Amino acid sequence: MNVAVPLTMIPQADPGAAYRAHTGAIDAAIARALDSGWYILGKEGAAFEAEFAAWLGTTHATGCANGTDAIALILRGMGIGAGAAVATVSHTAVASVAAIEMAGATPVLLDIDPVHYTLDPQELDDLLRDPPAGLPPIKAVLLVHLYGQAADLDAIIEITQRHGVALIEDCAQCHGALWHGRKLGTFGVASSFSLYPTKNLGALGDAGIIATNDADLAARIEALRQYGWRERYVSDLVGVNSRLDELQAAVLRVRLPLLDAANARRRAIAAQYSAVLGTAAPALRPGVEHVFHQYVLRRADRAADQAKLRALGIATAVHYPMPVHTQAAYSGRVALGPARCRETETACSQVMSLPIHPELTDAQVHRVTAALATL
Ligand SMILES: *Cc1c(COP(=O)(O)O)cnc(C)c1O
Repeated sequence: MNVAVPLTMIPQADPGAAYRAHTGAIDAAIARALDSGWYILGKEGAAFEAEFAAWLGTTHATGCANGTDAIALILRGMGIGAGAAVATVSHTAVASVAAIEMAGATPVLLDIDPVHYTLDPQELDDLLRDPPAGLPPIKAVLLVHLYGQAADLDAIIEITQRHGVALIEDCAQCHGALWHGRKLGTFGVASSFSLYPTKNLGALGDAGIIATNDADLAARIEALRQYGWRERYVSDLVGVNSRLDELQAAVLRVRLPLLDAANARRRAIAAQYSAVLGTAAPALRPGVEHVFHQYVLRRADRAADQAKLRALGIATAVHYPMPVHTQAAYSGRVALGPARCRETETACSQVMSLPIHPELTDAQVHRVTAALATL
């Protein structure tokens, strides 16, 4: 009789481990917020906003309910809605595209550079030079820095400036990543950060934050996140309810000072994987400090490799299995750029994400590298 040896699975993501690594400090912060008797938009939220802005290097940061709302609030604050189009990629969390439509604007989805999985600057230039008939005027580019690494900022900044189009950064996956020494999220008019539990900086529930150096835009966003209030119960703008609560802000204040070390740990784990994988390792863009929100491989036979790793007790994930433009909610309806997202479709059929969270033990990392050597 065969007796199966129980093999503990290494999860692809592990928000529980992130909590367990700092229970004392997190529990104390939550107790402090509970004791305060003030649960929404109070001292913890204001302190977190100030600390986040100081860490990032912007003059303003405004908390909100999640990273999707953060994008929609930026667009609304900029007056980009019905009658305007916003260019972004199809190779992203559906949230990027959903947020554009939440603001009332029309998304137009472009292809990626297949090596770094971020917006192809050449196609952006082509689109802005010759926009498709019937598309509303393109007012902004929502630039997604996917998996923890910067898009081609030099090219994209030059193109958006030349065409007079605003640049907004979707930083949901790149908290702390650098472009030639400067933090992502400081290049556009404004930037959005999701603080969902598995992001590099995560709450213990939903949360998001918006950063900008534009004081007027920050003031509009601050009003828009709370019914457009000028003062309590008096709305100057048509707003929404998208507030950051005090419990999440208190947790985030514990985690923000730990972020740079957590990102360094992700990079150290990535370096060990890449040493085994050689040319199959993900490409690093020169001049970029990657924060490895995901460690993504491309595999011709993904299903077989996932099964092999699963048998060795290693969970993998796919970010993302379907491009936004092929999903039922968007297919046949959403506008595409001239490249028709062909590289995106190929990437979605091949990408595979390994476990990379900073709480992985050295023994777990060793199990993954040993398994990778068998692929
Ligand atoms: C997670 C994510 C979002 C959405 O954030 P939520 O907090 O889940 O609303 C937006 N864009 C990208 C690229 C993301 O990864």
